[in-house]
Amino acid sequence: MYGGVAGEERRLSPLCRFMPLMSKKRQPFIIDNDLGPAIKEYLPADSRTTVECGMRPNTPDYPFLLDLCQREEAMFVTADTEFPAHVKRYQREHNDCCWGLLLLPSEELKQIDVLKRLRDGKIKLKHPKDDDFKFDYARHENLFINLRADPPEVRELCACKWDEED
Ligand SMILES: [Zn+2]
Repeated sequence: MYGGVAGEERRLSPLCRFMPLMSKKRQPFIIDNDLGPAIKEYLPADSRTTVECGMRPNTPDYPFLLDLCQREEAMFVTADTEFPAHVKRYQREHNDCCWGLLLLPSEELKQIDVLKRLRDGKIKLKHPKDDDFKFDYARHENLFINLRADPPEVRELCACKWDEED
C-alpha cells in the first residue's frame, strides 16, 4: 500500500536529528522491556520494545528475545549484562549470526546521559576493524556496542568474515 510506505518514510525522518551517526534507512532496534520509556527518544524512530513487538512482559530472555531479534533482524538494546553471553550462546546453538547488541548502563539517568553524548557527538565510537564506526553497519556487522564501559567500546560478537562477503 503506497500510503503506508510514504507514511513510514515521514515517520523515520527524525532519525537523523537524534543520531547523526545513523542514516535515514530503517534501523530496527528492539528495546528490552525492563528499560524505561525515557530512552526511546534517543534511539532510532522505529525502535520498539519487546512488548510492542508482541512479547509478554515476563517472556524469558533466552532464547525468546533473541528469536525475536533474529526474525526482525534487529539490534537488541538492553541494560542486562548477561546478553553478550546470551548472544554468543544463541549463535553457537543456532549456527547463525545475530544483529548486534547495545548495552546501556543500569541507571536511567546514566542511560540518557550516554545516549545524549552519543547523539551530540561527544562520544566517539571506534570500530574494531575500520576507522569509521556507523550504526548503519553495526547491526549488519553484529557489533557489541558497550555504552556501559568507560570509555564506551565496540567489539565483535562473532568471528565471521562479513567484511569479505561483499
Ligand atoms: Zn557472524
